[in-house]
Amino acid sequence: MDNARILIIDDDPNLRKTLADILRVKGYETLAAGDGGEGFALLRQHAVSLVLIDLGLPDIPGLDVLDRVKADYPATEAIILTGNATLDSAIEATNRGAFSYLVKPYAIEQLMLHIRRAIEKQQAQEQLEYQANHDGLTGLPNRNLLADRVRQALLYARRNQRQVAVLFVDLDHFKFINDTLGHDKGDRLLKIVAARLTDCVRSDDTVARQGGDDFVIVIADLAAAEDAGQVARKIQDAVSRPLTIDEHELEISCSVGISIYPKDGEDAQSLLKNADVAMYRAKDQGRNNFQFFTNELNDRAVARMTMEKHLRRALERGEFLLHYQPQVDLNSGRISGMESLIRWQSPELGFIPPASFIPLAEETGLIVPIGEWVLRASCAQNRKWQDAGFPPLVMAVNLSPRQFRQEGLAGTVARILEETGLAAHYLELEIIESLVMHDVECATVILKKLKELGVQLTMDDFGTGYSSLSYLKRFPFDKMKIDQSFVRDITSDPGSAAISRAIIAMAHSMNLRVIAEGIETKGQLGYLRSHGCDDMQGYYFSRPVPPPEFEQMLRDRRRLELPEESGGLPERTLLLLDDEAGVIAALQRMLENEDYHILAAGSAAEGFELLATSRVGVIVADHRMPGMCGTEFLCRVKELYPDIVRMLLSGHADMNCLTDAINCGAIFKFLIKPWNDDLLRENVRDAFRFYERQGEG
Ligand code: C2E
Ligand code: MG
Ligand code: MG
Repeated sequence: MDNARILIIDDDPNLRKTLADILRVKGYETLAAGDGGEGFALLRQHAVSLVLIDLGLPDIPGLDVLDRVKADYPATEAIILTGNATLDSAIEATNRGAFSYLVKPYAIEQLMLHIRRAIEKQQAQEQLEYQANHDGLTGLPNRNLLADRVRQALLYARRNQRQVAVLFVDLDHFKFINDTLGHDKGDRLLKIVAARLTDCVRSDDTVARQGGDDFVIVIADLAAAEDAGQVARKIQDAVSRPLTIDEHELEISCSVGISIYPKDGEDAQSLLKNADVAMYRAKDQGRNNFQFFTNELNDRAVARMTMEKHLRRALERGEFLLHYQPQVDLNSGRISGMESLIRWQSPELGFIPPASFIPLAEETGLIVPIGEWVLRASCAQNRKWQDAGFPPLVMAVNLSPRQFRQEGLAGTVARILEETGLAAHYLELEIIESLVMHDVECATVILKKLKELGVQLTMDDFGTGYSSLSYLKRFPFDKMKIDQSFVRDITSDPGSAAISRAIIAMAHSMNLRVIAEGIETKGQLGYLRSHGCDDMQGYYFSRPVPPPEFEQMLRDRRRLELPEESGGLPERTLLLLDDEAGVIAALQRMLENEDYHILAAGSAAEGFELLATSRVGVIVADHRMPGMCGTEFLCRVKELYPDIVRMLLSGHADMNCLTDAINCGAIFKFLIKPWNDDLLRENVRDAFRFYERQGEG
């Protein structure tokens, strides 16, 4: 310390003056007091590093002075000066916290030595204190000091009816940069960010580093809560300015969560926690944005914490069960396998679907032991059914991303197969597409290891993860599972239908089987089957069921009824679509003697369902219908089933709709209500002739 300040408390004015002069010459700032009272007055006004206390003071005993100095100014050191007579009390003084004592008369060199040591000791302490309160890398206040600063800001705000903002700043994808560029460069990036953050705020605000890539900013004396949003924006701009570290040009963004005193919390701890909750929300929202804390966020965070608490104990308390959903071969209609799906029956929280707890299990790492339990229980169950004499089936088990990347996964699988005695080819592992595409190199290695065990591999939820064909070829998958989001509206949405057809074609070109999941209707089944899908899974055949019910299905040899492929001459099938039952009836009557196989639908949805299950040649559709209009229906049919001949029947010669229909090329003929029977019969006949000619050509 360059200008350490020393206070001399001695009632001998000569001694005081001499001492003060010497110390000043030696470079110390000095203060002098003739008694204890005067000494304390000076201590209140000045920061003092060291006090020299004479034991024999006129007003307060020297030892009491020492006690008070140590109590009120713990960082200040004290050296006791004493006459011979009071040597005992001098020794007592060191026991009470004095740095040392000197017996008068003392040599000046001796005094200087003591002073230097006392001050050096103090400097070391200050150094320690600095280290305890600051982050070693960036020099910013750390957690300790941050808590202090928040408390100070709150004290001030409370007294002056002001607000305080706490901003939690987390860098986006910092881990990735750290992993790819190395920790050294990661550290340099953190320093740059620290400096930029500091530039964004006023000097009485605090920028602290919480650890890792987490920073906290405390804005004291805030007039309006919205001002915190402006600071957040400023922070985002500052952080995202491009930067260079060696030869690397980098751009980084950050996610910011904001909590405000007094609205979001009364104390440092809750404000920090709530800013953190809001920051997670910002991450959820796709990163690179800021979010204010809200009560709704709080409720969600509390619910999450509650669930986590129970989830941690669920495995040991045996709260998980497995349900099995059959998979059916679309050639034979027989059950060909099953998927095991976890269920959580919590005594405290009730039934919780996997979509609600698997992500949390994944985040907390609990998925690893849970997943291992699923694997073991599923393999054991499969083996049990085989031992009971049922035809052997393949058991599909889902692997989560964390499990997939877990060190030694292949070893675990091998061990479980061995323990349960299940042959490897009766185990199938489902891996979601987005997971393997995330890190292709790494995924390839893991998949190969699994494949070497002899298990089957399925790419789950296919179509959602932007796979590129060239990568797909490198992965040793056996099967692809079309995601249910495409199956859901496959019969009515040309986009979903086109993707599904493309997946089937692509998978077959690579000799992979294709299974579609989430099949709920005959139409979805019909469409997929007619386009060559190999297997199905979905409520249409069965929901996931507990083991006894699954066993019953096996015992009953339950099968999926598949419509016969119609042999012989193709029938002329006509679909009539109108929301008015009277119109349908009239049309049916009029076409009675024409030898058509007539299907009738009251809505577009029904129409799509029928198209997917029968081979329709001609459609006559009404234009005005609730839900989807006839024009839109026919436009979609054009994409889904380009061969079907489409006619629109409309009561209103609505020019716009006519133009639309013709422009999108969806209409073979446009018919007007009320119709002329003969003309309409002739038009339908024409349409079938056209349809049949297409078929020949
Ligand atoms: P997933 O692997 O895609 O499983 C298929 C989901 O679709 C299951 O939901 C199943 O019940 C549901 N499903 C099957 N057929 C139909 C249908 O016709 N219609 C509809 N709407 N849904 C159908 P569930 O059991 O709720 O599981 C949801 C997800 O949770 C699974 O999606 C999977 O990602 C995950 N999961 C389930 N069990 C496990 C497990 O043991 N481990 C891991 N890591 N994830 C699991
Ligand atoms: Mg699955
Ligand atoms: Mg799926």
